[in-house]
Amino acid sequence: MLDSAVTSKSGMVTKVHTRIRTDLFKNNYDLVGKELGRGKFAVVKKCVEKSTGQERAAKFLRKRRKGQDCRGDILNEIAVLEAAKANPYVVGLHDVYETSTEIILVLEFAAGGEIFNQCVADNDEAFTEKDVIRLARQILMGVAFLHWNNVVHLDLKPQNILLTSAQPLGDIRIVDFGLSRCVDATSELREILGTPEYVAPEILNYEPISTATDMWSIGVLTYVMLTGESPFLGEEKQETFLNISQVNVDYSQDVFHGVSALAVDFIQSLLQKNPRKRATAEECLDHPWLNTHLTSLAAPTMPDEQEASQSESEPESPAPSLGLVS
Ligand code: ADP
Ligand code: MG
Repeated sequence: MLDSAVTSKSGMVTKVHTRIRTDLFKNNYDLVGKELGRGKFAVVKKCVEKSTGQERAAKFLRKRRKGQDCRGDILNEIAVLEAAKANPYVVGLHDVYETSTEIILVLEFAAGGEIFNQCVADNDEAFTEKDVIRLARQILMGVAFLHWNNVVHLDLKPQNILLTSAQPLGDIRIVDFGLSRCVDATSELREILGTPEYVAPEILNYEPISTATDMWSIGVLTYVMLTGESPFLGEEKQETFLNISQVNVDYSQDVFHGVSALAVDFIQSLLQKNPRKRATAEECLDHPWLNTHLTSLAAPTMPDEQEASQSESEPESPAPSLGLVS
């Protein structure tokens, strides 16, 4: 067993318990199919464990990045995955290999891919509001678990939320703990920047990061899942940052056509500039939107709209008329 200490940056989780294997990954796994994904410093490929035939996802992480040794960052990612092992909505970690240049994380395979694909899909493949309610509950249960353990993810976005299957729509798995940190009362954390569209105002202002920082991203994520639009995205990064710091959000019916008022209220409880005013993961799980009897959502919540659609001979919208606005 290798017990590796991590000390470099504040908020890094310090201990890894997984045995880091130095035998050859290729002796135990066959790579199959094409790449599943790729980031700046990682490639993810599908593989099959030779001894069991089980499908897995192997994340190959480069240890040196921009001339710097980043082994500590990778151990932090491993430590967070270990800490969240007991939660079904965080991707499982099965094995870790190390070579002279890389660390390979062998992860549970999420066959449905990124929820991103369905966020931007056309209406018939897009999520319905019912779907989003179920998926949002799962995301919140995963994130609440992390927060109970003083872990913040700091990169929650549709590319890092995967599905066990796409059709029929399965369950979510949270991945990519590369930016995750431990937040506790003793140390203040202000350093990290996530992905422009999803970062909270306090990150832009170099103010303390907390579990509330993730909650902002969940607000953005829910907005995108329901509408197919990214609420703060501007033509350029600077415009996006300005939109975020001014909390410039469009809640109009143009964007939220066919979406319940409770959903909008839920998003508004998260897209609050002041982190202390933002709903926590636990509060979100108690929000009426996530506890609605799903059948009651089939009816639009705007009474005047309802009357209008009954009295006029407009074509009826498709059954759960709560999908994405494309
Ligand atoms: P990065 O840090 O480079 O963003 P991620 O962990 O987010 O790395 O992985 C990159 C992409 O690879 C993900 O967005 C997803 O598309 C795919 N991927 C990652 N983990 C898995 C997995 N366990 N199962 C299936 N696909 C995965
Ligand atoms: Mg990622």
